[in-house]
Amino acid sequence: MITSADGAAVAVAYFFVLGGLGLIVGSFLNVVIYRVPEGLSVVRPGSACPQCHEPINARDNVPVLSWLVLRGRCRHCRAPIPKRYPLVEALTGAVWLALGWWALGPQGLDPLLPLVLVLGSAGVALSFIDLDHHRLPNVIVLPLYPVTVAGLALAGVLSGEWPIGPTVAGTAAWLAVIGGIWLLTRGRGMGFGDVKLAPVLGATLGWVSFGSSVVGLFAGFLLGAVAGVVLMARGRAGRRSHLPFGPFLLAGAAIGLFAGAAIATAYAGWVAA
Ligand SMILES: [Zn+2]
Repeated sequence: MITSADGAAVAVAYFFVLGGLGLIVGSFLNVVIYRVPEGLSVVRPGSACPQCHEPINARDNVPVLSWLVLRGRCRHCRAPIPKRYPLVEALTGAVWLALGWWALGPQGLDPLLPLVLVLGSAGVALSFIDLDHHRLPNVIVLPLYPVTVAGLALAGVLSGEWPIGPTVAGTAAWLAVIGGIWLLTRGRGMGFGDVKLAPVLGATLGWVSFGSSVVGLFAGFLLGAVAGVVLMARGRAGRRSHLPFGPFLLAGAAIGLFAGAAIATAYAGWVAA
């Protein structure tokens, strides 16, 4: 017999494990964000202080906590450690918690959880790399294709449901809009990396529902437009300087996942009324 106290303990353990794994993955993403654009291995060598080259030992490598304990400075040379490191770790932990919450349903866990955790983690790395370098590296984006196919197939096998129609429609919508803008602006309005990422996000959201994928696509453009206007108003960006679009594409996809179905249903009801 399962009591509500057991249920609460399971829920606490579930979120504790997901949040903890998210922090650890976030720590690895810091390495990815720093090394992948340089073409360096993410495995070797181990992390070292860029200032004094002293290796970073395990106790100074605990996500978020070590940065706080060290007050943002290297243990050996006191060189400042950028706030971005604990920020990426905390953000990834929060993404894992949010996706874990999304996956909880009355029927149990959504079988899409493994895929959205991978895409959410890749999305954090891609967003920061795009902000830094204005590109979305192939070594991260291209492996997401087989990962997405495998993740959707796993969800199909586990749930017994195969929403192929909305998945294909979602993929086509994202590819048509993002690819279309890329073609029409000859790559100035959108990078080719965005075009390569689009089918992955469109397919995964389409699997959830076609409405989710359309809402996600719109939300990305809305966020990008708002950020562009805000930056221009603050004089931080001229009309010609271009904002990387990857982070907005990914944030839009997150909105599509979390709220897309609800927004699409509300919109359909409003149109019909
Ligand atoms: Zn140092």
